[in-house]
Amino acid sequence: MGKDKVIIFDTTLRDGEQSAGIGLTTAEKLEIAKQLEKLGVDVIEAGFAASSPGDLEAVKTIASEVRKPVIASLARCYLDDVDKAWEGVKDAQHPRIHVFISSSDIQIMNQLRKNPEEVLDIAVASVERAKSYCEDVEFSPMDATRTDPQYLYQLLEAVIDAGATTVNIADTVGYTIPSEFAQRIEDIKSNVPNISKAVLSVHCHNDLGLSVANSLSAIRAGVRQVEGCINGLGERAGNASLEEIIMAIDTREDLFNVSTGIDTTQIYRTSRLVSDITGFPVQPNKAIVGANAFRHASGIHQDGVIKDRSTFELIDPQRVGWPSNSLVLGKLSGRAGLRSRLEELGFHLDQQELSEVFEDFKLLADRKREITDQDLEALMSNSRRISDVPNLYQLQHVQVSTGDQGIPTATVKLIDRDGTEFTDAATGTGPVDAVYQAINRVIAVDNVLTEFRVDSVTEGIDAIGDVTIRIEKDGNIFVGRGSDTDIIVASAKAYMNALNRAVSADEKFQS
Ligand SMILES: [Zn+2]
Repeated sequence: MGKDKVIIFDTTLRDGEQSAGIGLTTAEKLEIAKQLEKLGVDVIEAGFAASSPGDLEAVKTIASEVRKPVIASLARCYLDDVDKAWEGVKDAQHPRIHVFISSSDIQIMNQLRKNPEEVLDIAVASVERAKSYCEDVEFSPMDATRTDPQYLYQLLEAVIDAGATTVNIADTVGYTIPSEFAQRIEDIKSNVPNISKAVLSVHCHNDLGLSVANSLSAIRAGVRQVEGCINGLGERAGNASLEEIIMAIDTREDLFNVSTGIDTTQIYRTSRLVSDITGFPVQPNKAIVGANAFRHASGIHQDGVIKDRSTFELIDPQRVGWPSNSLVLGKLSGRAGLRSRLEELGFHLDQQELSEVFEDFKLLADRKREITDQDLEALMSNSRRISDVPNLYQLQHVQVSTGDQGIPTATVKLIDRDGTEFTDAATGTGPVDAVYQAINRVIAVDNVLTEFRVDSVTEGIDAIGDVTIRIEKDGNIFVGRGSDTDIIVASAKAYMNALNRAVSADEKFQS
């Protein structure tokens, strides 16, 4: 007898994206969606179509270009929202509409200001509307873990009767604990008479650090869809981290006795891509995908691993696609060497793209003796930032003078999309500030810098510096990233990246 399959539902582009200030372009969301398809997730929640014109556009693009997984859009229980969700996913090979409404007394009374009967009617009407468009309909009672059980059973029964094919028990505020959650799932199974007509799903938040544990506990209790985000992104403390759930099921097959359709060797690559595009770093000690996840520091552990890896190593790093670091490229490496290394890292380039990256590679090799996998990833990120974000202004040149006696002064030369050059100079409290002031004199975009972070891509004095910034403009937050061996240049690139996003978002949705 085959094992039961657990449906993996990724909401990185919806719950993850809505967490403070990611503001991705459609091209970037599409790139993440394509990687999620390679990873083998079953459902991609591509966005919340009614929330903004940008979200609708992204959902539509992903629906028409990513064909293998189910593509879902979230919708509140308003008929307009459901219509918008359908507009977003209607071109998908496998469309899904996902409607949700608060079901706990605390949210029904204080947020919706309705009574439970009204909520039930609205939920049923919305599911019926969704069903009139689309066979595949998911319903989520929000804050389900703080909902009166009897009411939850009634609500679930009614929406399944109305046509919901998946019902998703959301631990929206991260309230429950594993044993209690498993019991709640068991109770739903025995108290909702038509529950077998729908797939039972869970959506757990990490406010108490229990989202993965709760999800796994629910799977053991019979749930067959789990929702989560890559790297555990999501509102507040985040959602359940999908890679942790996947590897727990994989590693403890003996216990779970279920399977997923995931290609685990794509996990590392997916994690890096999501971190790079969203600008949210992965903590070094994070399970499965943190930089130290497979690094043994203790002498006893090292000794054991050298004698036999399985002594202290639970998961073979290659199983999650961790790149082996045997081959290091340098100044003398050729095009073929670069291509084969990039392919091993999962980047498949055409001739033109390879030529462009090869030029950057040569420039880097002049400044840095050994080029590691991380360096190559930084190079690829830089070229993606240029192609995914509309290049309304390009940084041509930056020059800074600084020191303990002088006033930091920067000169920048920018080119706009018509090829017009602008040169300007400014002083600042430090070299980065001077560069930003000089850029501001050319691109007059009112904004506040809310985050500035420099990370070193590798160790050593010649390491590439990777700068992540966030700027706020009219209440919207835009991320910007740039890397270079010179951190002032990297800072300038990051600022240009964020400004280009802000300006293009403005142009696109002004009307
Ligand atoms: Zn959520």
